[in-house]
Amino acid sequence: MEQLNARKPKYIFITGGVVSSLGKGIASASLGLLLERRGYRVNFLKFDPYINVDPGTMNPYQHGEVYVTDDGAETDLDLGHYERFTRLTMGRENNFTTGRIYFDVITRERKGAYLGGTVQIVPHITNEIKQVILDRGKDVDIVLCEIGGTVGDIESLPFLETIRQFPREVGKENVAYVHLTLVPYVRASCELKTKPTQHSVHKLREIGISPNVIVCRAEEPLPDDVRQKIALFCNVDPEAVISAPDVPSIYEVPIEFHRQKLDKLLLRYFRLKTPRADMADWIRLVQKARKIRKTVAIGVVGKYVDLQDSYKSLIEALQHAGVHNGVKVRIRWLDSEEIEASENPVPLFKGLGGILVPGGFGSRGIEGKMRAIQYARERKVPFLGICLGMQLAVIEFARNVMGLAGATSREFEENPTHAVIDLLPGQSNQKETGGSMRLGIFDVDLLGGSRVVSLYGRNRVQERHRHRYEFNAQYQKEMESRGLLVSGTYSDRKLVETVELNDHPFFLASQFHPEFKSRPVLPHPLFIGFVEAAHLHDGKMSEKTLGKDVLR
Ligand code: GLN
Repeated sequence: MEQLNARKPKYIFITGGVVSSLGKGIASASLGLLLERRGYRVNFLKFDPYINVDPGTMNPYQHGEVYVTDDGAETDLDLGHYERFTRLTMGRENNFTTGRIYFDVITRERKGAYLGGTVQIVPHITNEIKQVILDRGKDVDIVLCEIGGTVGDIESLPFLETIRQFPREVGKENVAYVHLTLVPYVRASCELKTKPTQHSVHKLREIGISPNVIVCRAEEPLPDDVRQKIALFCNVDPEAVISAPDVPSIYEVPIEFHRQKLDKLLLRYFRLKTPRADMADWIRLVQKARKIRKTVAIGVVGKYVDLQDSYKSLIEALQHAGVHNGVKVRIRWLDSEEIEASENPVPLFKGLGGILVPGGFGSRGIEGKMRAIQYARERKVPFLGICLGMQLAVIEFARNVMGLAGATSREFEENPTHAVIDLLPGQSNQKETGGSMRLGIFDVDLLGGSRVVSLYGRNRVQERHRHRYEFNAQYQKEMESRGLLVSGTYSDRKLVETVELNDHPFFLASQFHPEFKSRPVLPHPLFIGFVEAAHLHDGKMSEKTLGKDVLR
């Protein structure tokens, strides 16, 4: 019997095999989008098999961006994909690491909750994981649960063991397994190779999991004979072998899955109705993006420029605003230490329509970032500063406009002459690093007549934060008298949230992180304004001047 609202929640488990970084997060997000657009209530859950309690303390080089949610959780960047592809808001309960699961179990053990029993991976850890999954199923029709890591890793075993047991808990008809693999192309023999996929499925079956669907990442679409072969060897229907070729934009993945009826297949499996997926706006967006010919170069000054996963949401937010403005944003990554070391950095900025200084921690490369800000301010190049980017814009202004040579942030110097960026009173005795920042959503009040208020079209907004240091209010009056306008504040505690310059085509910086709230169908107003200004500024330049260092 078919039904629209699932009486019992359905669970789709997404695992990955062969290699990491195949885009499991994007595959999960795409599937979530399709199910949501068919009218189902979905939820996501991401398990990360490492011991850190959350990724907040991890180096972005190793882990990529830390994605901050409304409720102030520091989470895996896949939650960013989930939010960008759907209408959902993620939070603390949508991301669990091995560390967090163990932490909760051990905390309970210390309180005597296990009544003297031996606490073990099976059943205590697996039961804990099981409960987390069951909790996500409350009030939704379908839970998409992504298991981080690659099948075969020691780390992910407790999670895999749990999802193996899971059908016993909720009934096998309510559980589906989707396995994402790589089908490499071997140039020497001009062949697509299915063996790694076969091995990875065998590995899963050894644990007791038989995938219902296999999604195959490959450079090209899978030819039919390859599809048949995988179906035969991995014991799935040929229609359940989904081809996931490289596409020009990640936002095309849902369309590709929809074309191959992945969503329909799973709904049929669950005996759920298959109302039409409402994809009109998404398709319009992807088509608009495909037609864009004009480009604008934006310089992003950072420390982790080699690893672009560290700036995932930022890159996406720029692209969203680009599509909105009918222009392709090409990011030129500028290494702050290279700017710092160079005698004359001006050539590094040549041809840029705008300069963006994103968030960051620590003193490495800050002088280089400030040189970029000074350049943007003096040469009237559109500038957007985010978090550390705002703090550095304030320091640069204090030093070079107000003549406060010793101006800096307490983050970089213990006893500075002018701590224009400082800790709040009461903040200085903080001992733990993890989860000790100003995190999550706070109200921001915007000043009438300012640039921010006109961009948002509202005088109060909610934005996400992740920082420890604040604009020092003692300097506000003097800064304003010299032209740096405080245009946004967190009124409860009089904290500065945005600053801007009037005598400049676009010079705006925020203490919050607008990039976390940008979605392709709802680009963020600050990015829209910045990219528009950059495009205008860039009007005179041609593609040729962009050079080889343009990455996207
Ligand atoms: N390091 C700065 C602070 O802690 C800025 C943080 C950020 O850019 N996310 O306040």
